Amino acid sequence: MNYNIALLKGDGIGPEIVESAVRVLEAVGKKYGHTFNFTSYLIGGCAIDATGAPLPEETVAGCLASDSVLLGAVGGPKWDTLPGNLRPEKALLGIRAAMELYTNLRPAKLYSVLKDACPLRADLVEKGFDLLIVRELTGGIYFGERGYRQGKYGEEAYDTEAYSVYEIERIAVAAFDAAMKRNKKVTSIDKANVLESSRLWRKVVHQVAERYPEVTLSDMLVDNAAMQLVRNPAQFDVVVTSNMFGDILSDEASQITGSIGMLPSASLGATGRGLYEPIHGSAPDIAGKNLANPIATVLSAAMMLRYSFGLQKEADAIEQAIDKVLCEGYRTADIAAGAEAVGTVEMTDLIIKALED
Ligand code: NAD
Repeated sequence: MNYNIALLKGDGIGPEIVESAVRVLEAVGKKYGHTFNFTSYLIGGCAIDATGAPLPEETVAGCLASDSVLLGAVGGPKWDTLPGNLRPEKALLGIRAAMELYTNLRPAKLYSVLKDACPLRADLVEKGFDLLIVRELTGGIYFGERGYRQGKYGEEAYDTEAYSVYEIERIAVAAFDAAMKRNKKVTSIDKANVLESSRLWRKVVHQVAERYPEVTLSDMLVDNAAMQLVRNPAQFDVVVTSNMFGDILSDEASQITGSIGMLPSASLGATGRGLYEPIHGSAPDIAGKNLANPIATVLSAAMMLRYSFGLQKEADAIEQAIDKVLCEGYRTADIAAGAEAVGTVEMTDLIIKALED
């Protein structure tokens, strides 16, 4: 098959890590008989320098015309003093809105060979863990009615959590579809003991579950979920939740892996096209030094194969190649814990070699 991928390399380490992912995708294409065509567009600080805007129209048009989008990272000290609407990070919200991406997928995986990086007690994460947080991205309290008014104690501010059946249904479908590609277990997180919007959330998620008889569904209150994530993260497969709860829980989940350079993400909408990016930023402190860990971006490319192109075995092959390289003991500096490390290019070479074996 032939796939057109828009590349948004961005700033800092962005170009280096996207280059790694491109090389890995080319190796996958060669091995499995696919052609990936890459077109680069400007985003973030480099776009400001070249065009005066962090998200040029050409970039939006190019992304919308592509089959999927791979993003490095944006931002850096050079652009930190610009006003808010001209900041590189503004481009991230802009491209997500333009692509109408309402689902955010954030895997948090602790490889058993990297368990020393995990801040949790060793006996809690003996076998590692591998969970996926599915966060609703365009609804809920971050987008609800808000304002100031006079209340019982004088001036007060308010925000509103509101979810429609439609919004809950489509995020639940995304979660159950993802679970079908994993271990067929969904935990829906809400606060149904207090919030009306959570009671609707729970009801609709259960209705959607009836369409997926192979998937086991359980409900968990958000306060308990925050606790369970640090008590026994291995109990989770797919976790689905609202925008605000997902914002908080996905950061908690990524922290307990201890390795920011290892974590990919995907944002999806109603079409197959998605935006795939590492969760870390542009790491200006190590940019251009061949020190960046390319694994988060390579894993983002694997997610693109799985979730946008339906290339399950190709995605598995990338993930297995990374497992193999880590099991052989190779590390970039961020996960080497002081031991000898390889650079960005060498880690990429090793992943490609493991893929080809
Ligand atoms: P950061 O994620 O860029 O870096 C935090 C720390 O982690 C740094 O020490 C960095 O060297 C290290 N690190 C990050 N990714 C790494 C990798 N792949 N390999 C090895 N080490 C890695 O966060 P920050 O320092 O707070 O922000 C730097 C810039 O990135 C800022 O301009 C910020 O606004 C921007 N940012 C962009 C995104 C994005 O593009 N999605 C996300 C977060 C921050």
